[in-house]
Amino acid sequence: MRLDKLISHNTPFSRSEVGKVLKDKRVTVNGSVMTKAAYQVKDTDVISLDGAPLVHQDYLYLMLNKPLDVVCSSDEPDHRTVIDMLDPTLRHRNLQPAGRLDKDATGLVLITDDGQWNHAVTTPGRKTKTYRVETAEPISNADITAFDIGLFLNGEGTPTRPALLEPLNAKSCYVTISEGRYHQIKRMFAARGNRVTSLHRLSMGEIRLDPALAPGEWRALTPDEIASIE
Ligand code: URA
Repeated sequence: MRLDKLISHNTPFSRSEVGKVLKDKRVTVNGSVMTKAAYQVKDTDVISLDGAPLVHQDYLYLMLNKPLDVVCSSDEPDHRTVIDMLDPTLRHRNLQPAGRLDKDATGLVLITDDGQWNHAVTTPGRKTKTYRVETAEPISNADITAFDIGLFLNGEGTPTRPALLEPLNAKSCYVTISEGRYHQIKRMFAARGNRVTSLHRLSMGEIRLDPALAPGEWRALTPDEIASIE
């Protein structure tokens, strides 16, 4: 990774502010002043800023158990966002949720500042997502078949990819989908004349929501969880 990128990831400085920090000779690599922003940092390099060694970690990968009434985008200034739920010391990073979960839905949200990893999670067809769903009306065998074949959502010309509907009881089920259309699960049930009353995401790819996380809590992903997305 480039030196300027690494410093901006691990300090409150933006990429352009880092340029000035470097020019001002505040950064050393292995004890020698380094002013080159494009310097490629090696794993063994000791980087110091103002004489203090910088702990460098290239990217962060987190899972959050999203509570109700928290939003994934920053477009709604009146609502708390998933990023607001994290430790304030992490806020200077460019952390983004991998895909969206509705304000009235709960459960697993993956958050990272690794754009490529984020893309791998959200590209349709790459990773499945499983939800526990409760509905207003009973779920039928015809619903299972319709989800399997694919449904036309209101206003869209291409059917949904095959989805797995596994009933738990009359009005609750697991649903596994492999794409992420706008309000997809709610619209799939609407297309069947039903209504979702509760939506909770349990997994994305191999990564399952950690049952130890209460709503609003988060933790770093393990190396295995991170690697499972490649
Ligand atoms: N489907 C929905 O309807 N909402 C979500 O947040 C995710 C999937």
